Amino acid sequence: MARKPSAELAAGVSEVWEYAPAPESRDVVSIAPEYGLFIDGEFRPAADGATFATINPATEEPLTRVAEAGGADVEAAVAAARRAYESTWGPMPGRERAKYLFRIARVLQERAREFAVLESLDNGKPIRESRDVDVPLAAAHFFYYAGWADKLEHAGFGPSPRPLGVAGQVIPWNFPLLMAAWKLAPALAAGNTCVLKPAETTPLTALLLAQVCSDAGLPAGVVNVLTGGGDTGAALVRQPGLDKIAFTGSTEVGKQIAAAAAGTPAKVTLELGGKAANIVFDDAPVEQAIEGIVSGIFFNQGHVCCAGSRLLVQESVADIVLDRLRRRLTTLRLGDPLDKNTDIGAINSQQQLDKITELAASGDAEGAERWSPSCQLPDRGFWFPPTVFTGVSQSHRIAREEIFGPVLSVLTFRTPEEALAKANNTPYGLSAGVWTEKGSRILWLAQRLRAGVVWANTFNRFDPASPFGGYQESGYGREGGRHGLAAYLDV
Ligand code: NDP
Repeated sequence: MARKPSAELAAGVSEVWEYAPAPESRDVVSIAPEYGLFIDGEFRPAADGATFATINPATEEPLTRVAEAGGADVEAAVAAARRAYESTWGPMPGRERAKYLFRIARVLQERAREFAVLESLDNGKPIRESRDVDVPLAAAHFFYYAGWADKLEHAGFGPSPRPLGVAGQVIPWNFPLLMAAWKLAPALAAGNTCVLKPAETTPLTALLLAQVCSDAGLPAGVVNVLTGGGDTGAALVRQPGLDKIAFTGSTEVGKQIAAAAAGTPAKVTLELGGKAANIVFDDAPVEQAIEGIVSGIFFNQGHVCCAGSRLLVQESVADIVLDRLRRRLTTLRLGDPLDKNTDIGAINSQQQLDKITELAASGDAEGAERWSPSCQLPDRGFWFPPTVFTGVSQSHRIAREEIFGPVLSVLTFRTPEEALAKANNTPYGLSAGVWTEKGSRILWLAQRLRAGVVWANTFNRFDPASPFGGYQESGYGREGGRHGLAAYLDV
């Protein structure tokens, strides 16, 4: 590592550390030329032979081809899950089910590096995040719910809570492995069997997890993985015979799923979008708040449903907070996701990059002021620099719509009442953050913010024991913790 002056000196940053590249080896991962669907304990091609490519969004290099499940495959997977539910997994005592979950958790830990590299290759997120957040949290979910499997009668749902049956689960591309763990671990612990549909752009870690389930000796049909696009997801949630539908993704698709499930016996939970307020008061510890603002919106390129995408900062400290924020952003490193020094990786797809670009352009057109640190974007792949908009008003699209990218909209307020009113002025209600040294103010706001999660003097903290979920257009139902079990039990 060498210290040398750089362009940032001109931007008022006194000194910048340049790092030598520290790439994680991709040799730890071997990617097959083609992958099948995981149905009834084995990998097989789609019934009609359809496949699609998955690419590395940081380079646009094709990684492999993956089977695209059609209607016949969906039917076969749900039938396999039904058989497994009735013959093996449903009747199995909880203490036996727990052993499989513990085994999966341990294998995830043992193969953590492989999972982390594969996730970064397929998703574009920095290895630092896949290594330190996604994979450990995925293992933690399996450990946590393994602990519940033989204690369901003590979970507060009556003396002998029963599973629902077969769960159809559709997950997005922002945390592919972690979302799979959020869905599978509580469902399996409660005694359900699963058909999981990962996102089209990020199928690989779900398929590796299927392999781990197989290696762990999980009985055939208990977990099935159907790769494919939106049509596969639509076919799955409309397949008769599901007792449960769990979806994480956009509010638009969530509404379609709720409409399709209406009138069917399937119980539904939806974890949808967000437009969280991160509220900074004048008595907040500024340096900590800056770190919280940065991790709130730039973690995972802002591809986070609970991202702190609206910064509400008290007018009296707005200048100092924004000044320090800009300085901090000049130190973020954007580039190769496999480099251990990288803070900001690639945008997951061209489609998502187009959406971010379009919404940011609307910020310019509506009169907000755009700022980004000087940073060189790689020539190939999908990239968007960390971006801050000031002069944002509540009517601007960038203050109302979920951008799902590294774009922060800054608004100011004068009183706690104004902060509360602005924070709640959204159709969403997933999360919020409060930065202040006054405990009474934190409690006052936490009771009034219409958000499923309120973080105080921190942001984007996740724990398998904590329930997570939203209000209004952010969906309904809770994942995580004891509450997450209720979503998979007949209670
Ligand atoms: P989607 O909601 O389309 O995707 C989520 C999952 O649902 C994917 O597996 C997707 O498949 C699948 N899917 C798509 N259409 C249907 C359907 N009609 N029925 C059942 N399943 C379906 O999100 P996008 O990836 O298109 O992202 C669009 C926007 O959604 C983002 O810009 C962001 O604002 C928001 N989003 C929010 C997330 C959150 O966690 N709250 C997560 C992801 C996105 P496939 O990917 O293969 O098309």
